[in-house]
Amino acid sequence: MSSNNQGCLGFLFHLFGVKLKDPNKTGIDEFPYALRDNFLSPSELSFYKILSLVITKEFVIFTKVALKDIFFVTEKDRSKHSTYHNKISKKHVDFLVCNAASMKPVCGIELDDSSHGRQDRVIRDDFVNQVFKNAGLPLIRYTNKRSYVLSEVEEKLQTIIQSTKAEAVNIQTPIVEKIEVNKNFTSSPICPKCQTPFVLRAAKSGKNVGKQFYGCSNYPKCREILEIE
Ligand SMILES: [Zn+2]
Repeated sequence: MSSNNQGCLGFLFHLFGVKLKDPNKTGIDEFPYALRDNFLSPSELSFYKILSLVITKEFVIFTKVALKDIFFVTEKDRSKHSTYHNKISKKHVDFLVCNAASMKPVCGIELDDSSHGRQDRVIRDDFVNQVFKNAGLPLIRYTNKRSYVLSEVEEKLQTIIQSTKAEAVNIQTPIVEKIEVNKNFTSSPICPKCQTPFVLRAAKSGKNVGKQFYGCSNYPKCREILEIE
């Protein structure tokens, strides 16, 4: 951007003495990024291709999903919240299988390479296993290989895929409005999923419009509800 072609905003910046950075003058590349040619490693790609054959159209596969996008922190003590968040913020799972209709995660998949036995990796893997277990999401591990056999990939996934198909997933999202927040949290029932108090809400649309119910205070991350009789 040259000084005589910086438009209205540039003129205003000039007027108030704000100097605009000119990358041509400073020699600093403002966008030092390039497209990776190896988004998936050869073994990840090989596994993905087999997985695509195993997974039916009711499911979708995502690769390299951050744990912070799958899970959320339920710790009520705000001072500890960021510590727990940081523990998952830089960790990824190799694959995430979701229900295609609801995008509800069905299972995570990890490919364990030769670093799997390393002490730091063992600690990391144990932590990830526990996060999945506590949140009730299956995590399946395969040994990282150059190529995979369809039957071995299918075998470990079969139970999960069959049980998910059988489970009727409610994809309807209730449109709700918060009408009252119980601040002292002494009488509200507790969300069984995140152990936080429910808040009183009312259905905004649908056949139950106006009907009150308890919803989790972590909504929309948690959609647990409790109907009021
Ligand atoms: Zn909840």
